[in-house]
Amino acid sequence: MIYLDNAASAPVHPKALAAAMPFLTDNFANPSSAHSLGQAAALAIMTAREQCAAALGALPEEIFFTSGGTESDNLAIFSALRAMGGGKVVTTAIEHPAVLNACKAARHSVCSVSSEGIVSPRDIERLIDEDTALVSVMTANNEIGTLQPIAEIGAICREKGVLFHTDAVQAVGSTELDMSDLPVDMLSLSAHKIGGIKGAGLLYARRGTPLSAMLLGGGQERGIRSGTENVAAIAALGAAMTEISRDIPERVRKVSRLRDILMTELEKIPFSRINGSRTERLCGNVNVSFRDIDGEALVMSLDLMGVCCSTASACSSGKQKRSHVLEALGISGEWLDGTIRLTLSESNTESEITRVAAIIAECVERQRAAVIIAYPHNTPE
Ligand code: PLP
Repeated sequence: MIYLDNAASAPVHPKALAAAMPFLTDNFANPSSAHSLGQAAALAIMTAREQCAAALGALPEEIFFTSGGTESDNLAIFSALRAMGGGKVVTTAIEHPAVLNACKAARHSVCSVSSEGIVSPRDIERLIDEDTALVSVMTANNEIGTLQPIAEIGAICREKGVLFHTDAVQAVGSTELDMSDLPVDMLSLSAHKIGGIKGAGLLYARRGTPLSAMLLGGGQERGIRSGTENVAAIAALGAAMTEISRDIPERVRKVSRLRDILMTELEKIPFSRINGSRTERLCGNVNVSFRDIDGEALVMSLDLMGVCCSTASACSSGKQKRSHVLEALGISGEWLDGTIRLTLSESNTESEITRVAAIIAECVERQRAAVIIAYPHNTPE
């Protein structure tokens, strides 16, 4: 099997698994319990908080553990808006539904993006008015991998006195994220995208950021996120953050070389196009459309050939829904349905990548030949 669906979920790192294991076996205690077993669980959460803070250039008290990216995004948006007594949120047309749908539940403005999938800081600035309380722009897009100018957008937000949140779920490990340097007030991330376990994530919130509790209960996570902590997944997240933040430039160099080989090979297939900027792009993302191809059927054929990938995003695949991201880029209908996303990691090899390109070419050709036999007048021009 060749796994090219790392943006959906990445393999669990052995060190993350090792960090989780004690809390799935011998130490099942509640971290709020006063006895030694409970305190050992509490210590594991403290260690994970320190590891996550160190990896992000943040303070431990700026880390709030959650159940994942979706909860972190919702917490950032609703919690900050409520703490500030309301106001408008400015976001972009290509956000993950965890941000977009949360923003749609509040007063909001949506910023369009270029045909390359990049947000213009000036366009964001134009949308900020006296009613604006918060801006939310993702660091990297989950479908097309485009990297957004968050440092510039954050600087504009500072100048205008509005909070800035970024969803960095896809960016962690592929871009340096140093909170001591970036003008970002809140940042979301998810464990299962970076070698941790599903069911954990975090919200970084800079000291002093107004937050209001969304889950009321026993007051865990300094009252902001009540509920007994997922100790095993949090311990794994701490270990995964330490691993993923090592050697980022080396990972980017290695993976982007493979990505570029794959993009070049795929572009040789007739009636194909790569979506999103080539330069401002995550090292592991390839998003490609084949004209007049059924992307769902292509993903199924690739699966039968031993290749795991997704249509636009894992979240929208299976739902037969067109990608709001590709639509925001202005990509026309005959391309939209024939889109697949291949997301690489450093464990992929060059021989896997060239093999995948050949398999995709074969599957696309087979699907087109089947259409021509069934509908002889339906050949692409
Ligand atoms: N934000 C982005 C950019 C994502 O890619 C995802 C997951 O695909 C999420 C948020 C949601 O994260 P989770 O699956 O941890 O809820």
